[in-house]
Amino acid sequence: MNRSRSTLTEELGKRGLTRREFLKFCTVMAGILALPATSASKIARALEKVQRPPVIWLEFQDCAGCTESLLRANRPSVAELVLDVLSLNYHETIMTPSGRSAEKSLEDTIKEGGYLTIVEGSIPVNDDGIYCCIGGRSAVDILKEAASNTAAIIAVGACAFYGGWPATSPNPTGARGVKDIISGVPIVNLPGCPLNVDNLTATVVHYLTFKELPALDDLGRPLFAYGRRIHDNCERRGHFDAGEFVEAWGDEGHRKGWCLYKMGCKGPIAFQNCPTIRWNEGTSWPVGAGHGCIACAAPNFWEHHAYEPVPIHQVTPSVTYPPVQPLAGMSPITTGVIGAAVGVAAGVAGAVAVHQLAEKKEE
Ligand code: SF4
Repeated sequence: MNRSRSTLTEELGKRGLTRREFLKFCTVMAGILALPATSASKIARALEKVQRPPVIWLEFQDCAGCTESLLRANRPSVAELVLDVLSLNYHETIMTPSGRSAEKSLEDTIKEGGYLTIVEGSIPVNDDGIYCCIGGRSAVDILKEAASNTAAIIAVGACAFYGGWPATSPNPTGARGVKDIISGVPIVNLPGCPLNVDNLTATVVHYLTFKELPALDDLGRPLFAYGRRIHDNCERRGHFDAGEFVEAWGDEGHRKGWCLYKMGCKGPIAFQNCPTIRWNEGTSWPVGAGHGCIACAAPNFWEHHAYEPVPIHQVTPSVTYPPVQPLAGMSPITTGVIGAAVGVAAGVAGAVAVHQLAEKKEE
C-alpha cells in the first residue's frame, strides 16, 4: 500500500497512459453518472489536480465477492488507476503487511482523518459482536471507530447494505448493514451481489470532481446507478411486450432469447444500471446470459423466491424505444392526432402483453 499523496496526473505519466485514454475514461464516467458529455472535461480538470485521498476498506461478514469485483475492474485501465490512486491504506484481504503493522496502517489513517471508508460485508451485533473479530476487536467496534473521523462511508454489496446472506432468517449472528449502526456520517450504499465496481469508480469520481457524494434515493443509493428499472432497459423487453416468454429452461424461447419473466425474472421490480453498464468489460450481464434478474440490489432480496414471477401492477413503456419526432412542416394539430394514436398504440401494446400473460396463466 503506497501512502504517498501524488496527483493523478503524476500517476498517469508513471504508468504510460495517454491523454487520449484518460479523456476516454472521463467521458465513460460522465456517461455512467448520467451527466452531459460536456462534463467530461470538468471531470478531467478535477482529476488532474486531485491528490490521492486516503481510503480504508473494511471487510466483515461476507464472501469477498465485492473485493473480487474490485480486483476485476477492467473498464479503461484508467479506472484501475483511479482506484489505485485512492491511496488504499488498509484492505486486509489484498494488502501486503499483516498482523500488527497492518493494524497500525488503520490506526494511523483514522488518526489523520479526512479519509473515505469503504465497507464490505455485514456487521454482526449479537453476543457483543463476537462472530466477526479482527485483531481481537469486534467488527462493530472497528466500524464505529472508523466512522468517527471519516469524510464519508461507501457501503458496497448487499451485506453492507441490509445484512445480505448472513442476515437470512433466523440471522443467528444479528447481521446488520452499515446504516443500521452508524448515523451522523454521510453514507452511500452501492448494493448488488456483488457490487459492480464501475459504480464504485463513478461514485469516487463524482466525489473527487464535485467534492460531494452523488444524489441518492430514499435507500441511500446513487440515482445515477439505481434510478432506472431494469425491465425498461432490458434487451428482452420487446419479447415481453410481444408476449413471448421462456416457459422452461432450454426451450425454444430460451434459445431465441425471449423474456424470462415467467422464469422468475425480477427485472420489473428491480432498479440498477446492469443492462447499460453490464459486466466483464461491458460485454455481459445475467439476463443477457439467460438467467432472470434476482433483484440483488433490493433490500432483503434473498427472501424472494428466485424462480417465482413477481406480480406486475403497472406496465411502463420501455425507454429503449426511439422517441416520437414530429415531422418537419407538420401542424401541431396533426402531431397531436398522431401522438394520440401512438399513445393508444402503446397502451394497446402494454395491454396485449398483460392480456397474453393472463391468457398463458389460464392455459
Ligand atoms: Fe428483461 Fe426480465 Fe423484463 Fe423480461 S421480465 S424484459 S427478461 S427484465
